[in-house]
Amino acid sequence: MIKAVLFDIDGTLVRTGGAGVRAFDRTSATVFGIPNGTSHLRFAGRTDTGLIREFFQRHGIQDTAENLERFLNAYVHLLDHSLATSTSELCPGVDRWLCDLKKSRKSPLVGLLTGNIRLGAEIKLRHFGLWDAFAVGAFGCDHSDRNKLAEIALRRCSQLLGTPLQGREVLVIGDTPLDIECARAIGAPCLAVATGDYGVGQLMRHQPTWAVENLETLDAETYLKEPSTRRKTPPGRPKTRSSNSPKKS
Ligand SMILES: [Mg+2]
Repeated sequence: MIKAVLFDIDGTLVRTGGAGVRAFDRTSATVFGIPNGTSHLRFAGRTDTGLIREFFQRHGIQDTAENLERFLNAYVHLLDHSLATSTSELCPGVDRWLCDLKKSRKSPLVGLLTGNIRLGAEIKLRHFGLWDAFAVGAFGCDHSDRNKLAEIALRRCSQLLGTPLQGREVLVIGDTPLDIECARAIGAPCLAVATGDYGVGQLMRHQPTWAVENLETLDAETYLKEPSTRRKTPPGRPKTRSSNSPKKS
């Protein structure tokens, strides 16, 4: 049985209309004097600290704890402002999934597995009133390697539950090939959602456990079942639209 469900944030829970990307770019310009200094970065699925290190390397800025702190301090301030002026939205089905997971008799731990630094994650999710829905998390400030974040999340979930969790007891939900890869790093099933930059077909090529258009027509409870029974159970809700039929890789 699934004992913990871990969500990515950007493109999975919420779409912030590029608020994070703009905050990165403004930090580059205002703190480091480099306009458009982050335009070369590919953000989807990456950790904030990994992105900042790539930015430092590209522009010959020393990768020191002090420079990292300067970047992050400005970034969170600018992120807050950027979110307030962005068109942002919850991804389809997220609110119902969070509600259903909370009500589930199986009571899974609901947490975050995200490349955002913790404060960045909190700012984004508080904007939607969602921060308190998550009991645990691993964040981009814990490690710059996303696969390592999965191990950290697994460890924290185990500590919170007071019992060692296996990767197969954790469901990872994310929108990029890097989310799929990090689920695989701990042997966890992955529900890939095409609500970010990647379509179902592109996600399928990376062999998640399932790839779907979004969470809207899916029954959360079905994804909490024992792995042996999961395959026999139709993952969609009774009225699943064909366009959102989960595709098993
Ligand atoms: Mg994402």
